[in-house]
This record gives sequence, structure tokens and C-alpha cells, in this order.
Amino acid sequence: MFEEIKKEFPILSQNINNRPLVYLDSAASTQKPVYVMDAVNNYYKTINSNVHRGIHSLSQKATDAYEHSRIKIQDFIHAKHSHEIIFTRGTTESINLIANTFGQLNLKQGDEIVLSVMEHHSNIVPWQLVAERYGAVIKVIPISPAGELLLDEYKKMFSEKTKIVSITHVSNVLGTINPIKEMIAIAHQNNVPVLIDGAQGIKSELVDVQDLDCDFYCFSGHKIYAPMGVGGVYGKEAWLDKLPPYQGGGDMIEQVRFEKTIFNKLPFKFEAGTPNVGGAIGLAAAVDFIARCGLENMIAYEKQLLNYALEKLQTIDNLRIIGNPQKQTAVISFLLGKAHPSDVGTLIDFEGIAIRTGHHCAQPLMDFLKIAGTVRTSFAVYNTFEDIDRLVDALRKVGKMLG
Ligand code: PMP
Repeated sequence: MFEEIKKEFPILSQNINNRPLVYLDSAASTQKPVYVMDAVNNYYKTINSNVHRGIHSLSQKATDAYEHSRIKIQDFIHAKHSHEIIFTRGTTESINLIANTFGQLNLKQGDEIVLSVMEHHSNIVPWQLVAERYGAVIKVIPISPAGELLLDEYKKMFSEKTKIVSITHVSNVLGTINPIKEMIAIAHQNNVPVLIDGAQGIKSELVDVQDLDCDFYCFSGHKIYAPMGVGGVYGKEAWLDKLPPYQGGGDMIEQVRFEKTIFNKLPFKFEAGTPNVGGAIGLAAAVDFIARCGLENMIAYEKQLLNYALEKLQTIDNLRIIGNPQKQTAVISFLLGKAHPSDVGTLIDFEGIAIRTGHHCAQPLMDFLKIAGTVRTSFAVYNTFEDIDRLVDALRKVGKMLG
């Protein structure tokens, strides 16, 4: 059903190194459909203006559009209130926001933060920074050789000292879809809140934050067909009310006096300074685009691409797929013989194919797997089975070249 969709992504109809581009790096960032680009363009062409507090018509229109975007996101992830959605630059900023404010409110010497081996650096380093500040300790959930979190080990990690669990919904390296609902329930039985890094998850499963009962869910627009530099964090109202502000500045205040500043209500308390209004509008357009396709259809189609690719890649000599999770999103990491992943990536690029190589911002996972990096292919709705055939042919060729 997505045969025609590629046409909506003009960037994909170009040649790279004299070959039609095959873009297989959507886990790093998706391409943007014309619909999203037009929405951003139209904003700048017709209503660009600073939001909130402006009395003139343009400012009111921009404010309405910006707040309408928030409601779109609320619906998309089924949050109870639109003020539970805080716009940020993306997942990284979202996790930093929660780590810093949560740390300030709740962490003290000896407290424990639970992460997993498969976390992206964005869900490790912010916690390390706050752990160091308050003397807290990081505990790490191990994984099986298949690349799945070990839930029995996880269950044993809770104690009075455990203050928060922060885990990824989906691994950006292995493609593992983690059983986050179950993991959230286990944490809650221990009175511990849970942050979900949804950078990859938000397009891999239908996200319903109320059903999941997560305390925080962080995401990036650019991974779901929206522009770069915009994303958000969902937080339960009760938590967002309790947490202190993150950054200070305009918009996040109700009243400023040198003696005392009164902070604004949610969600503005966490949105200091002029926001990325065009980005938020682009994000809402991306949500519309996804709604038009149907996220369930997109997931089903990407699963077909995944299964086709797994089958085809296994026919290549000396190609080793890393991990074998039961529930996997459209991300595959592999190694080709003893070839360095970056050599494979460079040679594949000569064929006009974009794949990612390296540690994928998951060095602790690489250490755990005892490898320096992987080659990673990832799919989105604009990919085709022919794209995978092109990749497989190119890998065969590269495999021969590199011996
Ligand atoms: N977490 C995961 C699992 C990711 O894949 C990424 C992006 N590669 C991030 C966090 C960081 O997202 P961003 O760079 O958009 O802030």
C-alpha cells in the first residue's frame, strides 16, 4: 500500500555517486514528506511571529498553531492533558530536562538510578552528570546474547535506594522492542517512577502513555518525519507539577521580581525562551502524515521489510547479524567478515546506499558485545523491497572486495 509514498519524499529521487539513492538510515533520522515541508514553509510565509503574550493577529495565529500542535501530540501518544506535553529540541534535551529536575528534587547520596546496557548515550550521560552531582549510583540491567533485557535480573535490582528507572523503548542498535509496559508495572510495584526513551519507540509501536502508565516519555520529531530540532517529553501532571523548572528565561515565568520569581503554570514552566514554533508545526504535520498512512499500517509494512531483509542478509557469506530479539523493529545491525564497519559503509556509499556504521552512540552496548561497532540498516515507510535487494547486492560486492 506504500508503493507511491516515496514520491512524497523528493530527496529520495536523486542520484548519489551516479546511482539512485537508497536511504537506509532512518533510525538516525527519517526523511521529510512534502506535506511536512509545506507546513513549515507556510508557517514562515504566512504567520511567523513570536508566540504567547502577543496582542497582534499574527502572534495570536502563531500561538494557536503552536498550541494546536501540542494537542496533536497529546492525541498521538494519548496523554490525558495537553499541558503534559513539553516541547523540547528532542529526546536528548527531554532526558536532560527530566534528569536534572528529577535529580534536584529526589536524588541524594547513595540513591540508585536503573538504566540498561542497551541505552543510547543520551540516556546514560545526563544521568551520570546528575549522579555525580548528588552522589547517586547507576545500576545497569544486563541483556541476553539475543539482545533482550533480562527481566529476572531487573526485578532483583529494586531496593529502598532505587529512585528512578530510565530505559529505552527500542534499541537503536539491535532493534529490540522492550517489554516496557511490564517493566513499568514492576517499577511501580516498587514505587519507582519510569522514564522511557522513545526516540525509536514512538514509530515502532502505538504509544499510549496512559495505558503504559509511564511517568515520562521522551521523543524526537526528526525520527518521525518531522523537522530536526523539535521533539518533546510527556510527563504525568503530578510529576511535572512537582519538578522544579529546568531552564530560566522568558515564558516560563508568571512574574519576575528581583526578590522572588513566580513560575508559570504547565507546560510553560518548562519552556524557557522562544520555542521552535515552525518545528512544532512541522511535528504536528508529521503526525497528520502518520495518521493518513495509519501507524499500524506503517509498522506492518516496516515489519515486512525487516523480515525480507533478515532473510536476504542471511544469504550473504560471512555476514553476522548482531542480536536476535523476538520483538524487533525495522533496525538490523551486522558485521561483514572481519571488515571494519566504516570500510563497509564507505564502499556501500559508492553504490548510492546510505547506511550507518560505528558505535551508534551506544558504546557500553558495544563493550558488552565485545565489538567496536556495527553496520546498521534501518527502514521507514518510503523504503522498498528493491532497496533491500540493492543493499544485498552491494554487500555481496563489498564482501568480495574486502575478502
Ligand atoms: N535514544 C535513542 C534510542 C536514539 O536512537 C537516539 C537518536 N539516535 C536518541 C536517544 C537521541 O535522540 P536525539 O539525537 O534526537 O536527541
